[in-house]
Amino acid sequence: MFSRSRVPRSEQDPHQGYVAGRYRDGSLSDDWTEARRCADRTFVRYVARCTCGWIGLDDAPDERGAERCERDWRADHQPLASAVATALNQPTAAPMRAGRVGRP
Ligand SMILES: [Zn+2]
Repeated sequence: MFSRSRVPRSEQDPHQGYVAGRYRDGSLSDDWTEARRCADRTFVRYVARCTCGWIGLDDAPDERGAERCERDWRADHQPLASAVATALNQPTAAPMRAGRVGRP
């Protein structure tokens, strides 16, 4: 889920996207900072971030940039995060065996 406002973080979902702001010193705001609500010029760029640590590309610090950050998270990170979660929750198809793989 992409958080547009400050919402309680789900402890079961390590992937919650948000729009972070890049400060003038290069550091990024955290997931508790609603970058869009901060005063103008607080941030020099907007950046898509995820609570797991993933960071997307920088974009303009305006509403369109924030929307592109959301889209980046949904298109670039969320599908991969979901695929990994699904793979980790599936039992292995065949038991792992020691030894050679392929021709006997
Ligand atoms: Zn994530």
